[in-house]
Amino acid sequence: MKFFGFKGGVHPPENKIQTENQAIEILKAPKMVYISLLQHIGVPLTPCVQVGDRVLKGQTIADSEAFLSVPVHATVSGTVKKIENLPFPLMGNVQTIVIENDEQEEWATLRKVENWKEASKQDLLSIIREKGIVGLGGAAFPTHIKLNPPSDTKIDALLLNGAECEPYLNSDNRVMIEDPQKVVEGIKIMKHILKVETVVIGIEDNKREAIEIMKKACEGTEIEVMPLKTMYPQGGEKSLIKAILNKEVPSGKLPSAVGVVVNNTTTAAAIYDAVVNGLPLLDKVVTITGKAIKEPKNLKAVIGTPISDLLESCGYKEDEAEKIVMGGPMMGMAQFTLEVPVIKGTSGLLALTKEETNYCKPKACIGCGKCVDACPMSLEPIMYARLAAFSQWEDMANYHLMDCIECGSCSYICPSNRPLTEAIKIGKAKLRSMKK
Ligand code: SF4
Ligand code: SF4
Repeated sequence: MKFFGFKGGVHPPENKIQTENQAIEILKAPKMVYISLLQHIGVPLTPCVQVGDRVLKGQTIADSEAFLSVPVHATVSGTVKKIENLPFPLMGNVQTIVIENDEQEEWATLRKVENWKEASKQDLLSIIREKGIVGLGGAAFPTHIKLNPPSDTKIDALLLNGAECEPYLNSDNRVMIEDPQKVVEGIKIMKHILKVETVVIGIEDNKREAIEIMKKACEGTEIEVMPLKTMYPQGGEKSLIKAILNKEVPSGKLPSAVGVVVNNTTTAAAIYDAVVNGLPLLDKVVTITGKAIKEPKNLKAVIGTPISDLLESCGYKEDEAEKIVMGGPMMGMAQFTLEVPVIKGTSGLLALTKEETNYCKPKACIGCGKCVDACPMSLEPIMYARLAAFSQWEDMANYHLMDCIECGSCSYICPSNRPLTEAIKIGKAKLRSMKK
């Protein structure tokens, strides 16, 4: 297959070298785990346990009947100590189940599928939901919904996102290097569900080892591995579809509109564990790096581990840290407390120094158009900043604001340091609140 590339994009310093060769280490589960009840795109969950209950590892502790939801599970065995609103890494406070770990590692009975090749599509989708699988590239969209597009939509290609285009992060990279068979088997399960012929894993060409390992693991299968020219935001769904299949997803539409489903490679490994081993999504590989970290690492931590534990186990230099970011530097969220826990969508933790955050005061726009050239969605970021300054939210919508993927390329490239992505996020929030 030919590589087509995508429009726009930027190439920030990669900063992958610090952790790309660091093998995944298991972080000991903490004494208290904090399971937030909104770890997916969708509605918050309702607890199905009470304070004082003893829970087993892998037991469902909250669920919802809403269409857009997946359950969460106890990631340790122990006792439910509290259920209350606590700090959440993506916004304010969210209802959270706090479990005191009894360190017995006592497991719940786990249901699995004995022979997935014989299983029906519905059975596979049902177990993928039951095990709490969401997109692990950061979006945390429920995977069983993605794998079940409307019946009138013909899907003919499955793309696997192994781009990991965010600087600093190596979480997906290490999973591909260390667990290639799980990734491949998970992809086969998805292929079986979707009944597609074309299956391509896209990996940026700065991950040579992962490309070679995945190519070897895919030998004798119908899965193709395609090296992609390193360019941010290659891993955005629409960028990936353009780069690999040369198809453009229309404004306001999903990838299924052009017959494509995109999933992350780490999600594929989680699907394998869910279906074949009966394992719920209980842990996540997180890259911990930045100049305020003495020993950058890739740690596998149970969901609900406070981020302070991860930072401390990598030699966190608190006095040098200017900013803590969950995720990558382009799309990650700055954290205002270290009390927030690892959630399903956590791929990285950056402890950045003043030098790395490189904050410069915004200056006047010089009309250079660089933000427009860099935008992978063919938008006009400069217009959003101008309209937001005058609270013209509806006019922002007319400029296709909702197509913005908040990749941050426009802010990154702007020579005047205009806070373009900030204006976009505010505009989107205003429009959403106006609809309520
Ligand atoms: S943040 Fe939005 S407007 Fe800016 S470059 Fe990315 S997609 Fe375009
Ligand atoms: S990149 Fe910055 S200075 Fe150039 S047009 Fe866009 S907002 Fe203005």
